[in-house]
Amino acid sequence: MTSYSPNMLKTYQNCPQKYCLKYEQKLIMPQKASLFEKGKNIHALANYYLKGDNIDKFLTVLNQEEVLLWETLKNNIYFQKQYVESEYNLSCKIGDFWIGGRIDAIVKDEEKYYILDYKTGAIPKEPENDYQTMIYMLCLSKKLNRIDGINFVYIDLKNNQNHLIELSDEKLREYEKSIIKICNSIKNVQIQEDLKFSKKCDFCEYKRVCF
Ligand code: SF4
Repeated sequence: MTSYSPNMLKTYQNCPQKYCLKYEQKLIMPQKASLFEKGKNIHALANYYLKGDNIDKFLTVLNQEEVLLWETLKNNIYFQKQYVESEYNLSCKIGDFWIGGRIDAIVKDEEKYYILDYKTGAIPKEPENDYQTMIYMLCLSKKLNRIDGINFVYIDLKNNQNHLIELSDEKLREYEKSIIKICNSIKNVQIQEDLKFSKKCDFCEYKRVCF
């Protein structure tokens, strides 16, 4: 059975055709590795650090920009809270659908849990309504069997800012509704033969296949 990840839902939201090509037909198009390199290094480093590994050797291979990003993350008030999990897979069932993915980290203080997401690029335009926020908060809420004290923090490393989202009864219901709606819609997705080129196609790695 398919388990829907945030990337799958975001891809579908952005272009159902792309969803079909990527996740139904499993057609993977090459992308520039450099686009992800910086984020990968910081995430790997954060994971080793939180798990208590020695990171000295790793630090020597970072470039100057990465060192600054790492220092920003290390000094972040949420990153400094009590470690619970890092690079952790979470999943749960909402309605008839499995959802889940891998979170950067979970930390906590006396009463609250925080799902952390470190961004070396931009944070989502609408963080409260991003599928990543919805999926991870729903999964953690189910896992811990609570709604209060579940939080999501986008850590914007470039601007050294945090965006905190708190789960509430109302948000939980809204999130469940949105997830069920989009998953139901995905069930009927099909490849389109008659496509119109649009602005979003300009930077899409699938355009050679579509047109
Ligand atoms: S090229 Fe355009 S239509 Fe094709 S997958 Fe990309 S965004 Fe969708």
